[in-house]
Amino acid sequence: TLILAFESSCDETSVAVIKNGQEILSNIVATQIKSHQRFGGVVPEVASRHHIEQITSCIDDSLEQAGVDYTDLSAVAVTYGPGLVGALLVGVTAAKTVAFAHGLPLIPVNHMAGHIYAARYVQPIEFPALALLVSGGHTELVLMNEPGKFEIIGETRDDAAGEAYDKIGRVMGINYPAGKEVDRLAHIGTDTFKFPRAMDKTDDFDFSFSGLKSAFINTVHHADQIGETLSRENLACSFQQAVVDVLADKTKKALQKYPVKQLILAGGVAANKGLRDRLDQEIQEFPNVTFIKAPLPLCGDNAAMIGAEAYVEYQRKNFVGAKLNADPSLEFDWAKGTSA
Ligand code: ATP
Ligand code: MG
Ligand code: FE
Repeated sequence: TLILAFESSCDETSVAVIKNGQEILSNIVATQIKSHQRFGGVVPEVASRHHIEQITSCIDDSLEQAGVDYTDLSAVAVTYGPGLVGALLVGVTAAKTVAFAHGLPLIPVNHMAGHIYAARYVQPIEFPALALLVSGGHTELVLMNEPGKFEIIGETRDDAAGEAYDKIGRVMGINYPAGKEVDRLAHIGTDTFKFPRAMDKTDDFDFSFSGLKSAFINTVHHADQIGETLSRENLACSFQQAVVDVLADKTKKALQKYPVKQLILAGGVAANKGLRDRLDQEIQEFPNVTFIKAPLPLCGDNAAMIGAEAYVEYQRKNFVGAKLNADPSLEFDWAKGTSA
């Protein structure tokens, strides 16, 4: 089974050819980061235009690198939400066009389900599984009792973890997206600031990062006002420790309540070394749980992860017709159904 997968929900245009949901024949990712950096974040209108410019060559490159032709394909898959509506529409329109021009079934994929399925390239997903999904727009604990079913058991009440990284990074003068650089600095600093660990001890699986972000910004502004220079490394380390502490604590609490076979770490922030190392340690307490980290190159947005999830939908014959539309605020509830 060969699936041509599309991803264009934010600032990466990506097209991949995936064999049997587990082998990447090609995964072309055209990033727009440089175009958005001077604005300090993604500008939706700029993103849409870049997707339009890039998508055709991404398709061509993807097929060429995979060494396949349209006639070899079994299906076309596309991220239809959540994300920026104008960005999503480019991928959805391209995928529909290819599907109908070549008489192929069209598979709708939830971007967040795609992030989780990046883990499929490490090993098959076994159910029940729990995913810690940490990205630029989401921070969630997702319980999966069977393929294609996703239940959010906890989520952020305000900022997503990646969003908090990007915002505090901006205050430190780090280019968007700041996560990777803050992570690097954190490893050469010490947790001297002891920022708040919000909701760490609450009796649920929810998160909150806006208080941490405010505490960080207040600390930096206060130092500015009194002309004091703070250690960037210690700031980064203190911030990262606070984030990793709450993510790890809530994940452990969820593992205690739900006896799953696997813990999956996925989403852009899953690339964080501090978080990966911390969960590697914590999982020792759960000898029956296999810990799967999304491969580093597949943590950020890409079409290979979309193709892996699409294979599950392909087996369930979850196909849509020309009526497929972008859904910028798509939620997991939908994925519990069997058709669009
Ligand atoms: P969503 O998937 O929720 O729709 P998105 O697609 O914009 O949002 P991703 O591409 O999954 O988000 O992830 C991007 C985020 O990951 C950015 O906020 C970025 O700063 C963060 N990130 C990337 N690498 C690291 C890292 N090493 N440490 C922390 N954060 C990181
Ligand atoms: Mg991105
Ligand atoms: Fe994403």
